[in-house]
Amino acid sequence: MIFYLQGGYVPQEEARVSVLDRGFLFGDSIYEAIRSVDGKPVFYRDHLARLHHSAELLGFDLTGGTPDLRAIMRELLRRNGIEDSRMRIVVTRGTGGRDQISGFTPTWVVTIEPFATLPDEEYERGVAAVLVSVARTGVASLNPEIKSSNLLNNILARQEAVRKGAAEGVMLNPDGLLAEGAYSNLFWVDAAGILRTPSLEVGILPGVTRQKVIVAARAAGLAVAEDTAGPEALESAREILLTSTSWEVIPVTRWNGAVVGSGRRGEIAAMLRDRLRALYHEDEEDDA
Ligand code: PMP
Repeated sequence: MIFYLQGGYVPQEEARVSVLDRGFLFGDSIYEAIRSVDGKPVFYRDHLARLHHSAELLGFDLTGGTPDLRAIMRELLRRNGIEDSRMRIVVTRGTGGRDQISGFTPTWVVTIEPFATLPDEEYERGVAAVLVSVARTGVASLNPEIKSSNLLNNILARQEAVRKGAAEGVMLNPDGLLAEGAYSNLFWVDAAGILRTPSLEVGILPGVTRQKVIVAARAAGLAVAEDTAGPEALESAREILLTSTSWEVIPVTRWNGAVVGSGRRGEIAAMLRDRLRALYHEDEEDDA
């Protein structure tokens, strides 16, 4: 594959950064994973806004300018001859030692890989998820709003989930409230039929898919509540869903080893995935 690196396009094998890059040394780096569907990057503005939010929270100096990422992504699609992809924009603070506090030149990288969603049968069957013992980092330590490439917290959570035979691990925040998955946001449908999701105040990544799903659900006439809940709320859930750029809206049909609802995908999960996928094509503002 051809990647973007610091102003140029290079074959994957030649795309290298310095061992003195602070992304490599300290995980001092941020990223966005963004998909293209039918040759068009989707929800580009949302991802770009979140990238800038991450940069601001970490004090990255982007005054030197942000490359035209939309043009870069289109060029990567063209050069690699693919339409459906997952691209990863990575920005590191730049090279420098631990004691350096200013004067950095950020490193910009965009990688690309072909991407296809899971087969429909897997969406029908759903995935298993478990509560993990690893807590989501607290807002006061490493604010989960920062989409940092330091994913150690998420890696530990996913490892624990996989050890327990699940596809995803759900983390609590340091106060014991439901937060999010290792790489996904969490929703559930309660006994009254209300779609619930942890609020941003709990300390979670503001998922682009999460936001689209909230808006789509309200447009479909569903009541949506963003608030706080303990893990017991999931035990009586009719449906549990995980959302992410890669998974879209995937049902959790086994929670901590117990069957959720009918054990198959519920109708709200199916409806929300359809509505989300429709937005990939309606998102014409990105052509501006
Ligand atoms: N939470 C975490 C911790 C994640 O890593 C991800 C995936 N980037 C998400 C939620 C889902 O976010 P998005 O819908 O923007 O992909």
